[in-house]
Amino acid sequence: ENPVYYDDNADESHLAERTVAVLGYGSQGHAHAQNLDDSGVDVVVGLRKGSSSRDAAEADGLRVATPVAAAREADLVSVLVPDTVQPAVYDDIEEALEPGDTLQFAHGFNIHYNQIRPREDVNVQMVAPKSPGHLVRRNFENDEGTPGLLAVYQDATGDAHDVGLAYAKAIGCTRAGVIETTFREETETDLFGEQAVLCGGVTSLVKQGYETLVDAGYSREMAYFECLNELKLIVDLMYEGGLGEMWDSVSDTAEYGGLTRGDAVVDEHARENMEEVLEAVQDGTFAREWISENQTGRPSYTQLRQAESDHDIEDVGADLRALFAWGGEEREEVPADD
Ligand code: NDP
Ligand code: MG
Ligand code: MG
Repeated sequence: ENPVYYDDNADESHLAERTVAVLGYGSQGHAHAQNLDDSGVDVVVGLRKGSSSRDAAEADGLRVATPVAAAREADLVSVLVPDTVQPAVYDDIEEALEPGDTLQFAHGFNIHYNQIRPREDVNVQMVAPKSPGHLVRRNFENDEGTPGLLAVYQDATGDAHDVGLAYAKAIGCTRAGVIETTFREETETDLFGEQAVLCGGVTSLVKQGYETLVDAGYSREMAYFECLNELKLIVDLMYEGGLGEMWDSVSDTAEYGGLTRGDAVVDEHARENMEEVLEAVQDGTFAREWISENQTGRPSYTQLRQAESDHDIEDVGADLRALFAWGGEEREEVPADD
C-alpha cells in the first residue's frame, strides 16, 4: 500500500525560504501559481517572450519573467508547460539551476522516458494533482483540496520529500490526500488509463455502441442518447459510490442485463488488447511513437483527430445539444485532458 499524506504530515516551512518559478500559465500553471501565492510562497511565473498567457498572469497579480530568468531567481522550478515542449524548455533553463534547487513536475513522462536527463545535483520531484487545473484552483478557493500524487526521483538535498510535501500542501493537495508513488508508476498507470479506459476505451465503446444501433436501423438521436448522453449519469454514480451505487440505482433489468452481457462485450480479447497496450507503455514503444510523431509534425495525430471529428455521432450530438435545454452555452467547459 502506498502511504497517504494529509495537511498534518506536511510542513510548509520547507518552502518558506524558497522562491518558486512556475513555468507556464496554462491549466496546471495558473492553479499552482495562484495557490502557492495565496499560501504565502514567493512566486514568479516563467513565460516566453510574446506569451499569450502573460496578461492573465499579470492580471492575477503575479510577477512574470522569462523562463530562464525565473529559474535563475528560483530555488524550486515547477515545469508546467506542455509535456512535448518540456525537454526544450529544460535545455534552456538547465544552466540557471543551482546545486540543491528542486525541479518539480506534474507528470512523469519526460523524466521516466529520459527525455529530460536532470542534473544530478538538483532534487527532482513530482506533485501531480489528479485533476484538471481549473478544479485545483476552484477547490482551493472553496477551502477544499484536490487529491494528488507525490514522487521523489532524485534527492540531492536530503529533504526532497519534505519539500515535495510542502509544495503539495501549498497547492491544497494535502487537504484531500496525497498518495506516495514513483515516476514510473505514475507515468505508466496514467498512460495506460487514458489509452485503455478513460479516453481511448470509452470513446471506442461509445462509437461502437452508437454504430451498432444506427446500422440496425434505429434513429441517430436515440442511439446518441443511449450510448453517449446517458454515460454521464452512470459515471456520476460510479464516481460517488463505486460500481455498487451504480448497480443499486439502475433497474433490476438493467442490472441483470449488464451483469450478464458486459463481460461478453468487453471480453477476454479486450483484456488481451489491454495487456498489449500496457506492454507498449512499459517497454517504451508508445513513448517512442509519440515523440517521433511530434518530431515529424504530427502526421497521424492530425489525421486521427480529423476522422474523429468527422464521426456521425459528433454531428448528431451537436444538433441535439443545441436543441435541448441542457445544451449550448450554459454548459460548463471542462478541459479534455485528464
Ligand atoms: P498547458 O497546455 O495548459 O500549458 C500551457 C502553458 O505553457 C501556457 O502558459 C503556454 O504559454 C506555455 N507554453 C507552451 N509552450 C511553451 C514554450 N515552448 N515555452 C514556454 N512556455 C510555453 O499545460 P498543462 O497545464 O495541461 O500541463 C502542464 C503539465 O501538467 C504537464 O506535465 C501535464 O502532463 C501535467 N498535468 C496536466 C493536467 C491537466 O489537467 N491539464 C493534469 C495533471 C497533470 P504560451 O502562451 O507562451 O503558449
Ligand atoms: Mg495523462
Ligand atoms: Mg436505459
